[in-house]
Amino acid sequence: MTSPDAIDVGRLTLALNDLRLPAIKTIWPDFAARADKEGWPAARFLAALAEHEMAERASRRIQRHLDEARLPPGKTLDSFDFSAVPMISKAQVMALAAGDSWLEKGANLLMFGPPGGGKSHLAAALGLALVENGWRVLFTRTTDLVQKLQSARRDLQLEAAIAKLDKYHLLILDDLAYVSKDQAETSVIFELIGARYERRSLLITANQPFGAWNSVFPDQAMTLAAVDRLVHHATIFEMNVESYRRRAAIERKRGPGRPPTRATIKASS
Ligand code: ADP
Ligand code: MG
Repeated sequence: MTSPDAIDVGRLTLALNDLRLPAIKTIWPDFAARADKEGWPAARFLAALAEHEMAERASRRIQRHLDEARLPPGKTLDSFDFSAVPMISKAQVMALAAGDSWLEKGANLLMFGPPGGGKSHLAAALGLALVENGWRVLFTRTTDLVQKLQSARRDLQLEAAIAKLDKYHLLILDDLAYVSKDQAETSVIFELIGARYERRSLLITANQPFGAWNSVFPDQAMTLAAVDRLVHHATIFEMNVESYRRRAAIERKRGPGRPPTRATIKASS
Protein backbone atom coordinates (compact mmCIF):
# COMPACT_ATOMS: atom_id res chain seq x y z
CA MET A 1 0.00 0.00 0.00
CA THR A 2 1.32 3.44 -0.88
CA SER A 3 1.06 6.18 1.72
CA PRO A 4 -0.19 9.50 0.37
CA ASP A 5 2.32 12.06 -0.71
CA ALA A 6 2.62 14.92 1.80
CA ILE A 7 2.20 17.55 -0.89
CA ASP A 8 -0.99 15.88 -2.17
CA VAL A 9 -2.34 15.77 1.38
CA GLY A 10 -1.68 19.49 1.79
CA ARG A 11 -3.36 20.37 -1.53
CA LEU A 12 -6.36 18.24 -0.70
CA THR A 13 -6.78 19.73 2.78
CA LEU A 14 -6.74 23.25 1.36
CA ALA A 15 -9.21 22.37 -1.38
CA LEU A 16 -11.62 20.59 0.96
CA ASN A 17 -11.57 23.55 3.36
CA ASP A 18 -12.27 25.91 0.52
CA LEU A 19 -15.08 23.76 -0.88
CA ARG A 20 -16.50 23.29 2.65
CA LEU A 21 -16.46 19.51 2.60
CA PRO A 22 -15.64 18.76 6.25
CA ALA A 23 -16.95 15.19 6.26
CA ILE A 24 -14.73 14.20 3.33
CA LYS A 25 -11.83 15.96 5.00
CA THR A 26 -12.24 13.74 8.07
CA ILE A 27 -12.94 10.46 6.33
CA TRP A 28 -10.80 10.43 3.21
CA PRO A 29 -7.64 8.94 4.75
CA ASP A 30 -9.63 5.90 5.97
CA PHE A 31 -11.49 5.53 2.68
CA ALA A 32 -8.28 5.98 0.69
CA ALA A 33 -6.50 3.29 2.72
CA ARG A 34 -9.40 0.89 2.16
CA ALA A 35 -9.61 1.75 -1.52
CA ASP A 36 -5.87 1.10 -1.95
CA LYS A 37 -6.02 -2.13 0.02
CA GLU A 38 -9.14 -3.50 -1.70
CA GLY A 39 -8.34 -2.12 -5.13
CA TRP A 40 -11.50 0.01 -5.52
CA PRO A 41 -11.94 1.63 -8.92
CA ALA A 42 -11.44 5.40 -8.66
CA ALA A 43 -15.13 6.08 -9.39
CA ARG A 44 -16.24 3.91 -6.48
CA PHE A 45 -13.86 5.76 -4.15
CA LEU A 46 -15.17 9.13 -5.28
CA ALA A 47 -18.81 8.06 -5.00
CA ALA A 48 -18.26 6.74 -1.47
CA LEU A 49 -16.72 10.05 -0.41
CA ALA A 50 -19.51 12.13 -1.99
CA GLU A 51 -22.24 9.99 -0.42
CA HIS A 52 -20.59 10.26 2.97
CA GLU A 53 -20.57 14.08 2.73
CA MET A 54 -24.24 14.10 1.73
CA ALA A 55 -25.29 11.88 4.64
CA GLU A 56 -23.33 14.01 7.11
CA ARG A 57 -24.89 17.16 5.71
CA ALA A 58 -28.39 15.77 6.11
CA SER A 59 -27.77 14.79 9.71
CA ARG A 60 -26.16 18.18 10.51
CA ARG A 61 -29.19 19.91 9.00
CA ILE A 62 -31.62 17.87 11.08
CA GLN A 63 -29.54 18.55 14.20
CA ARG A 64 -29.73 22.30 13.46
CA HIS A 65 -33.48 22.08 12.98
CA LEU A 66 -33.81 20.14 16.24
CA ASP A 67 -31.84 22.81 18.10
CA GLU A 68 -33.95 25.63 16.70
CA ALA A 69 -37.27 23.82 17.33
CA ARG A 70 -37.06 24.27 21.14
CA LEU A 71 -39.03 21.10 21.74
CA PRO A 72 -39.53 20.06 25.36
CA PRO A 73 -37.18 17.11 25.95
CA GLY A 74 -38.27 13.50 26.20
CA LYS A 75 -41.67 13.79 24.51
CA THR A 76 -41.79 11.23 21.71
CA LEU A 77 -44.47 9.33 19.86
CA ASP A 78 -42.89 6.11 21.14
CA SER A 79 -43.44 7.17 24.75
CA PHE A 80 -46.99 8.37 24.08
CA ASP A 81 -49.59 5.95 25.36
CA PHE A 82 -52.32 6.05 22.72
CA SER A 83 -54.58 3.83 24.79
CA ALA A 84 -55.03 6.78 27.19
CA VAL A 85 -56.74 8.79 24.42
CA PRO A 86 -58.97 6.25 22.66
CA MET A 87 -60.63 9.00 20.59
CA ILE A 88 -57.30 9.69 18.81
CA SER A 89 -56.31 7.34 16.02
CA LYS A 90 -52.65 6.36 16.17
CA ALA A 91 -52.67 5.74 12.42
CA GLN A 92 -53.88 9.29 11.83
CA VAL A 93 -51.16 10.71 14.09
CA MET A 94 -48.52 8.65 12.27
CA ALA A 95 -49.79 9.98 8.95
CA LEU A 96 -49.60 13.56 10.29
CA ALA A 97 -46.02 12.87 11.41
CA ALA A 98 -45.00 12.43 7.76
CA GLY A 99 -46.06 16.04 7.17
CA ASP A 100 -46.75 16.20 3.44
CA SER A 101 -50.51 15.81 3.61
CA TRP A 102 -51.04 18.97 5.66
CA LEU A 103 -47.87 21.09 5.96
CA GLU A 104 -47.64 21.49 2.19
CA LYS A 105 -50.96 23.31 2.14
CA GLY A 106 -50.63 25.16 5.40
CA ALA A 107 -53.40 23.22 7.14
CA ASN A 108 -53.70 23.33 10.94
CA LEU A 109 -53.98 20.93 13.84
CA LEU A 110 -55.97 21.91 16.93
CA MET A 111 -55.86 19.98 20.20
CA PHE A 112 -58.41 20.62 22.94
CA GLY A 113 -58.81 19.04 26.33
CA PRO A 114 -58.41 19.49 30.07
CA PRO A 115 -54.96 19.85 31.68
CA GLY A 116 -52.85 16.71 31.88
CA GLY A 117 -54.53 14.97 28.95
CA GLY A 118 -51.36 14.83 26.87
CA LYS A 119 -51.83 17.77 24.48
CA SER A 120 -48.36 19.23 24.97
CA HIS A 121 -46.76 15.79 24.87
CA LEU A 122 -48.48 14.83 21.63
CA ALA A 123 -47.77 18.24 20.06
CA ALA A 124 -44.07 18.05 20.96
CA ALA A 125 -43.80 14.42 19.82
CA LEU A 126 -45.34 15.29 16.47
CA GLY A 127 -42.97 18.25 16.20
CA LEU A 128 -40.00 15.97 16.80
CA ALA A 129 -41.14 13.42 14.23
CA LEU A 130 -41.69 16.18 11.67
CA VAL A 131 -38.18 17.60 12.20
CA GLU A 132 -36.76 14.11 11.79
CA ASN A 133 -38.70 13.89 8.55
CA GLY A 134 -37.06 17.07 7.26
CA TRP A 135 -39.56 19.79 8.23
CA ARG A 136 -38.83 22.91 10.23
CA VAL A 137 -40.78 23.41 13.45
CA LEU A 138 -40.87 25.88 16.34
CA PHE A 139 -42.47 24.94 19.66
CA THR A 140 -43.39 27.88 21.89
CA ARG A 141 -45.68 28.70 24.77
CA THR A 142 -48.26 31.01 23.32
CA THR A 143 -47.73 33.68 25.98
CA ASP A 144 -43.98 33.76 25.25
CA LEU A 145 -44.54 34.26 21.56
CA VAL A 146 -47.19 36.93 22.17
CA GLN A 147 -44.70 38.78 24.36
CA LYS A 148 -42.07 38.68 21.61
CA LEU A 149 -44.50 39.82 18.94
CA GLN A 150 -45.79 42.60 21.17
CA SER A 151 -42.31 43.90 21.67
CA ALA A 152 -41.73 43.70 17.90
CA ARG A 153 -44.93 45.70 17.40
CA ARG A 154 -43.69 48.41 19.78
CA ASP A 155 -40.59 48.69 17.57
CA LEU A 156 -42.79 48.78 14.44
CA GLN A 157 -41.31 45.40 13.46
CA LEU A 158 -44.37 43.16 13.81
CA GLU A 159 -44.65 42.34 10.12
CA ALA A 160 -40.96 41.45 9.90
CA ALA A 161 -41.16 39.33 13.06
CA ILE A 162 -44.11 37.38 11.66
CA ALA A 163 -42.37 37.00 8.30
CA LYS A 164 -39.34 35.54 10.11
CA LEU A 165 -41.56 32.75 11.42
CA ASP A 166 -42.34 31.77 7.84
CA LYS A 167 -39.23 29.60 7.76
CA TYR A 168 -41.04 27.21 10.10
CA HIS A 169 -43.40 24.90 8.27
CA LEU A 170 -45.11 24.34 11.60
CA LEU A 171 -45.48 26.73 14.51
CA ILE A 172 -46.68 25.00 17.68
CA LEU A 173 -48.54 27.40 19.98
CA ASP A 174 -48.89 25.63 23.29
CA ASP A 175 -51.70 26.75 25.62
CA LEU A 176 -53.50 29.37 23.59
CA ALA A 177 -56.17 29.85 26.24
CA TYR A 178 -53.58 31.15 28.74
CA VAL A 179 -53.11 34.39 26.82
CA SER A 180 -53.93 37.16 29.29
CA LYS A 181 -56.39 39.99 28.82
CA ASP A 182 -53.76 42.68 28.23
CA GLN A 183 -51.89 40.40 25.84
CA ALA A 184 -55.10 39.88 23.90
CA GLU A 185 -55.65 43.60 23.46
CA THR A 186 -52.85 43.97 20.93
CA SER A 187 -54.19 41.27 18.55
CA VAL A 188 -50.74 40.02 17.51
CA ILE A 189 -52.10 36.44 17.47
CA PHE A 190 -54.81 37.55 15.09
CA GLU A 191 -52.20 39.03 12.75
CA LEU A 192 -50.12 35.85 12.99
CA ILE A 193 -53.09 33.64 12.10
CA GLY A 194 -53.96 35.90 9.16
CA ALA A 195 -50.38 35.91 7.86
CA ARG A 196 -50.03 32.13 7.95
CA TYR A 197 -53.50 31.35 6.61
CA GLU A 198 -53.33 28.73 3.82
CA ARG A 199 -49.54 29.08 3.62
CA ARG A 200 -47.94 27.86 6.82
CA SER A 201 -49.34 25.52 9.44
CA LEU A 202 -50.18 26.10 13.08
CA LEU A 203 -50.59 23.49 15.79
CA ILE A 204 -52.55 24.99 18.67
CA THR A 205 -53.24 23.39 22.03
CA ALA A 206 -55.87 24.84 24.37
CA ASN A 207 -57.71 23.80 27.49
CA GLN A 208 -60.81 25.55 26.23
CA PRO A 209 -62.38 25.08 22.83
CA PHE A 210 -63.44 28.02 20.68
CA GLY A 211 -66.35 29.10 22.88
CA ALA A 212 -63.94 30.43 25.50
CA TRP A 213 -61.56 32.17 23.10
CA ASN A 214 -63.04 35.63 23.50
CA SER A 215 -60.36 36.38 26.06
CA VAL A 216 -57.62 35.64 23.52
CA PHE A 217 -58.64 38.25 20.93
CA PRO A 218 -59.52 41.95 21.26
CA ASP A 219 -63.18 41.55 20.31
CA GLN A 220 -65.84 39.11 19.25
CA ALA A 221 -65.52 39.87 15.53
CA MET A 222 -61.79 39.11 15.58
CA THR A 223 -62.38 35.90 17.55
CA LEU A 224 -64.85 34.74 14.92
CA ALA A 225 -62.57 35.69 12.04
CA ALA A 226 -59.59 33.95 13.68
CA VAL A 227 -61.53 30.76 14.40
CA ASP A 228 -62.92 30.80 10.87
CA ARG A 229 -59.42 30.86 9.36
CA LEU A 230 -58.01 28.31 11.76
CA VAL A 231 -60.69 25.71 11.14
CA HIS A 232 -61.02 26.21 7.38
CA HIS A 233 -58.31 23.58 6.80
CA ALA A 234 -57.86 21.84 10.12
CA THR A 235 -57.77 18.55 11.94
CA ILE A 236 -59.24 18.78 15.43
CA PHE A 237 -58.32 16.44 18.28
CA GLU A 238 -60.69 16.59 21.22
CA MET A 239 -58.73 14.97 24.02
CA ASN A 240 -61.34 14.89 26.74
CA VAL A 241 -59.62 12.46 29.10
CA GLU A 242 -58.65 12.30 32.74
CA SER A 243 -55.24 13.71 33.61
CA TYR A 244 -52.63 11.12 32.62
CA ARG A 245 -50.47 11.80 35.66
CA ARG A 246 -53.41 11.41 38.02
CA ARG A 247 -54.42 8.19 36.36
CA ALA A 248 -50.87 6.87 36.52
CA ALA A 249 -50.65 7.78 40.23
CA ILE A 250 -53.87 5.93 40.95
CA GLU A 251 -52.67 2.90 39.03
CA ARG A 252 -49.42 2.88 41.00
CA LYS A 253 -51.34 3.04 44.26
CA ARG A 254 -53.50 0.10 43.24
CA GLY A 255 -50.46 -1.89 42.22
CA PRO A 256 -50.47 -4.30 39.31
CA GLY A 257 -53.76 -5.95 38.58
CA ARG A 258 -57.05 -4.73 37.25
CA PRO A 259 -57.01 -1.40 35.43
CA PRO A 260 -58.86 1.33 37.34
CA THR A 261 -62.41 2.00 36.30
CA ARG A 262 -63.82 5.47 35.78
CA ALA A 263 -65.60 5.14 39.10
CA THR A 264 -62.37 4.51 41.06
CA ILE A 265 -60.69 7.45 39.36
CA LYS A 266 -63.59 9.74 40.26
CA ALA A 267 -63.83 8.43 43.83
CA SER A 268 -60.19 9.13 44.65
CA SER A 269 -60.06 12.62 43.15
P1 ADP B 1 -51.57 18.82 28.69
O1 ADP B 1 -50.65 19.58 27.81
O2 ADP B 1 -52.79 18.31 27.99
O3 ADP B 1 -51.91 19.57 29.94
P2 ADP B 1 -49.27 17.10 29.06
O4 ADP B 1 -48.93 16.71 27.68
O5 ADP B 1 -48.43 18.16 29.68
O6 ADP B 1 -50.81 17.50 29.19
O7 ADP B 1 -49.25 15.79 29.96
C1 ADP B 1 -48.96 15.81 31.36
C2 ADP B 1 -47.89 14.74 31.68
O8 ADP B 1 -48.42 13.46 31.42
C3 ADP B 1 -46.67 14.87 30.80
O9 ADP B 1 -45.55 14.50 31.56
C4 ADP B 1 -46.91 13.89 29.68
O10 ADP B 1 -45.69 13.40 29.15
C5 ADP B 1 -47.72 12.80 30.36
N1 ADP B 1 -48.71 12.23 29.47
C6 ADP B 1 -49.95 12.71 29.21
N2 ADP B 1 -50.63 11.92 28.37
C7 ADP B 1 -49.80 10.89 28.08
C8 ADP B 1 -49.92 9.72 27.27
N3 ADP B 1 -51.04 9.47 26.59
N4 ADP B 1 -48.86 8.89 27.20
C9 ADP B 1 -47.74 9.13 27.90
N5 ADP B 1 -47.55 10.22 28.69
C10 ADP B 1 -48.57 11.09 28.79
MG1 MG C 1 -49.90 21.46 28.08
